[in-house]
Amino acid sequence: MSTASIRCDRDNQLAQELLQHPDVQRVNRWIADNEDADKSSSLRRHLLTTSVRLSPQISPRLHAMAGHCGTALGLNLPLELYAYASPQYNAVCFKPEAGRLYIMFSSAILEAFTEKELLYVMGHEIGHHIYHHHDIPIGYILRGKAAPPADLALKLFAWSRYAEFSADRAGAFCANDLDAVARALFKLASGISHLSSSGQPGLIEFSLDEFLSQVNDMVEQDAAPGQGAPTQDWFSTHPFSPLRVKALTQFHESALMQPGGYSKDELEMRLHELMQLMEPGYLEAKTQATRIMRNLFIAAAMSLARLGGGVTKNEQGILQQFLGKSFDLDKLDISQLEALIPARITEALEHTTPSQRMQLVRDLALVARADEAGCRHKEQLLVRYARELGVPYNFVGQCMAHVPELD
Ligand SMILES: [Zn+2]
Repeated sequence: MSTASIRCDRDNQLAQELLQHPDVQRVNRWIADNEDADKSSSLRRHLLTTSVRLSPQISPRLHAMAGHCGTALGLNLPLELYAYASPQYNAVCFKPEAGRLYIMFSSAILEAFTEKELLYVMGHEIGHHIYHHHDIPIGYILRGKAAPPADLALKLFAWSRYAEFSADRAGAFCANDLDAVARALFKLASGISHLSSSGQPGLIEFSLDEFLSQVNDMVEQDAAPGQGAPTQDWFSTHPFSPLRVKALTQFHESALMQPGGYSKDELEMRLHELMQLMEPGYLEAKTQATRIMRNLFIAAAMSLARLGGGVTKNEQGILQQFLGKSFDLDKLDISQLEALIPARITEALEHTTPSQRMQLVRDLALVARADEAGCRHKEQLLVRYARELGVPYNFVGQCMAHVPELD
């Protein structure tokens, strides 16, 4: 089986589209020009001065594992491994430089993860390189001075999630042990490092089925609004861990990993369904909850736009991105809509789930960020809406400044 065949179709497809986008091409040209001009700030130099190099002499086991992952994924570059001091579980793969690929591990992850778990982490990181994920400079584009057009921002958010699923599959392929992969994700999500294994009693006994049942409970929670607390992780670029485990379980059961498993097309369809469950669109608005979200989104978005002096071209772009090209803004009466907001918020509280309300706030943040004019007032208003919707107010700040990174 080839590494290309396990990549998520949607990641591949969105990446191709993004690489054709003029804004992506412009930023890539800018990066290339500046890289040439500033050789002194090389990555290797930076790593050598800030981190500890784990040479094959001092870490033969880690290098043997890296060799295993490199062979499994068809890596054709030498690897250089580094460790840095941090209590967080983390690993990062950088764009290659001078013909070498660099992976940096936090001290905590090296100490707390077993060999199989580290194979998954390493495979995930190498997967980002194999799939050329670093060719799309998502951080530069979203952090740039001018906010990117809405369709581009949304496409980047969507692509980055699928890119993580591709990297996850590469990692799971290297580890070839679903239980170890799930344990690794459990450790990443919970921060707990000592899990008891069979025969060795401990405080936390890991169970794949129990971990997966969290996803099912989340789905059920969404079907029964008004209960339970949402998790902010739902909206981070790295999809929430139980969701990743669910996607990896599907991958593990597919023909890509098991002879006789279901086809790749079927696998991609299941992944798509899983993602749809997380973030229903306003466009379809088939259920009562999504209709309420749509109505509130329109009214609140218009009131935010008004603070900037009226609906600008950027804002219009975002609204049409969410509501469809045929959506006619000119027919809307902003004052009339604003008057409806309190009632629509009450309705949302009664009929939508906390995670749906967070999605709404995140999408409104895209509208608020679209233009500089009235920015502070827009943020204040959004904080007020968030509070009234029972969404943690710091979530607004997170959305207003949110820049996902691949790691
Ligand atoms: Zn990643």
